[in-house]
Amino acid sequence: CGIVGYIGPRQAQGVLISGLSKLEYRGYDSAGIAVHDGVQIEVKKKAGKLENLSTLLEGQPMSGSLGIGHTRWATHGLPNDTNAHPHATEDGRIVIIHNGIIENYLPLKEGLMSRGHEFKSETDSEVLAHLIEEAYAGNLEEAVRAALAQVRGAYGIVVTHIDHREIVAARTVSPLVMGVGEGEMFLASDVPALLAYTRNMVFLHDGDMVVLNDDGFRVMDLQGNPQERTIEHIEWDA
Ligand code: GLU
Repeated sequence: CGIVGYIGPRQAQGVLISGLSKLEYRGYDSAGIAVHDGVQIEVKKKAGKLENLSTLLEGQPMSGSLGIGHTRWATHGLPNDTNAHPHATEDGRIVIIHNGIIENYLPLKEGLMSRGHEFKSETDSEVLAHLIEEAYAGNLEEAVRAALAQVRGAYGIVVTHIDHREIVAARTVSPLVMGVGEGEMFLASDVPALLAYTRNMVFLHDGDMVVLNDDGFRVMDLQGNPQERTIEHIEWDA
């Protein structure tokens, strides 16, 4: 439902929670964030209001300057803590968030399970984490591209990997907008999540894939061909 991503010098947790709170109007049933501290990617998620997640974080804040966050509107699997996003691989090295629906997730899930993958959730989304893991050979962007070539449906997806200081994202049907800061980059499913941080935005087109790092971004299509996208200055307020 709602997506926020951050990479830069700030502590990611605050940016993610503040961004998600601006997307609450969309309606959701659970919320979660993942923060990469350079050594590990920690995931915290909770069914119910964003407040439930904030309360959980008060006792044990997450440290790290790269992160992704989600408010879920369940389509596959009950709205509970386990089905909330982000979703990680068994070894916790790849963590994903997904908006939308993966239509062919069942045959994909059966194939992955027959090859030894263990699933934690009942969501359609979790197949993405395992497909990326299976395709990964050192280059995250290529692995995400190979995984997406196997799925049908609507998605806004954001991906992090323990060995990379970058966020890889892509969209088909579901919207994604990028916020371009100075020495920091943002990502969201909608503009209001980012207005407190930057007004320089790039609206990703249908079928765009993007790699974000501390210095900027690269956009390409789902085949890997580079794409030019202009930075727009947003004058209005949410
Ligand atoms: N289909 C996914 C799920 O049920 C994502 C739902 C959403 O867009 O929030 O978990």
